[in-house]
Amino acid sequence: MSLEFATIASGSSGNCTYIGTEHTKILIDAGLSGKKIDEGLNKIGVTGADIDAVFLTHEHDDHIRGAGVFSRKYKTPLYATVGTFNGGDYKMGKVNPILKNVISHGENIIINDLCISAFKTPHDANESVGYSVITDKHKVTVATDIGHVTKTIMDNIKDSSILLLESNHDIDMLKKGSYPEPLKQRILGERGHLCNEVAGKLLACIMNGKLSYVRLGHLSLENNTERLAFETVEAILNRYKIKVGTYLDMAVAAREGVSEIIELK
Ligand SMILES: [Zn+2]
Ligand SMILES: [Zn+2]
Repeated sequence: MSLEFATIASGSSGNCTYIGTEHTKILIDAGLSGKKIDEGLNKIGVTGADIDAVFLTHEHDDHIRGAGVFSRKYKTPLYATVGTFNGGDYKMGKVNPILKNVISHGENIIINDLCISAFKTPHDANESVGYSVITDKHKVTVATDIGHVTKTIMDNIKDSSILLLESNHDIDMLKKGSYPEPLKQRILGERGHLCNEVAGKLLACIMNGKLSYVRLGHLSLENNTERLAFETVEAILNRYKIKVGTYLDMAVAAREGVSEIIELK
């Protein structure tokens, strides 16, 4: 059974990730307009009607914007923590209560041949989570919007075959940039976003033979560049004698637009 992974968008202006097998297809986050999600899915040969469930990480706009529209159009079940639903309800509009599934961090949800495991993330949202999606052979993890690295995150990322990891900003660019001071402090804070350096160090710590694909995601438009994110993380991995491009395929997930599909056999 093969598993496919593609980001439909990944960045501070919208996040949506597709993970699917022949039997089950899900989205993690729906932070684009319903139209853009449809267009992105069509580009990878999937339609909105094929999606079995949408798992939301938290209630910020860039993760939830299209969730209500999408669920109304395709009658798609939504999964989120109670805190995320509470914070996101007014943004999503009316969603059929039958389609709203409340989950908790630490919980495993089985949908056909996928097991989706929610884990707690430190972020300035009500009750944010990341997700690992596990099949009989593989594990794929989406870990973005994390202010700092916790043991829970390390434990959940470990042994993934594909990892979408936040590499939000370059600290110098952020500090010297035009953002107002309180926003800078929010991003740099314990419940903000992960910088390139920490993303690199985290990868160096958890790297093992299983991790084949890393996609650096949720890049800031103002405080990062694709090249800077990639090169900073690559340089840290090099220090630990981890060579990108040999057994590890690393790339930056496009902020806007669909990334190439990764297929695991
Ligand atoms: Zn976000
Ligand atoms: Zn967020």
